[in-house]
Amino acid sequence: MGDTAGDTMGMTAFTEAVSQLEAAGYDSMGFAVEDARIVCVECDASVDPSASQVAGMLRYQTDAGEGHVFAIGCTSCNARGLLFIGAEALAGGVGDIVGVLENRARGS
Ligand SMILES: [Zn+2]
Repeated sequence: MGDTAGDTMGMTAFTEAVSQLEAAGYDSMGFAVEDARIVCVECDASVDPSASQVAGMLRYQTDAGEGHVFAIGCTSCNARGLLFIGAEALAGGVGDIVGVLENRARGS
C-alpha cells in the first residue's frame, strides 16, 4: 500500500483506502494519542511514537484542513488498527507525533 502514502486524496478515494486497510486486518478499535504516546485501545499499552509499528499512512482533506490516518500494529497484543488524527487534533499540538509517524510509515 506504499503507493498511497504521501498523496492527499478526496473523500471517496479516502473511504476506499480505509476499507482496504480494514480488509488487510487493521480492523480493531484502533489507537489513540495520549500524553504524546500512542495508546492501544485493545490492551491499553502505550508506546513512544518513535517505537511504534506504522504499516501505512493515508492523508485526507476536509474543510477543517488535512487529516491523517495511520495503520498501526500494537507491539504488546499484536492488534492492528487505525489511528485517526484530524486537522483539529493537529491544531491541538500533536503535529510532532504526526511527523514522527509519517517518517515511520515511510520506513525512514
Ligand atoms: Zn494492544
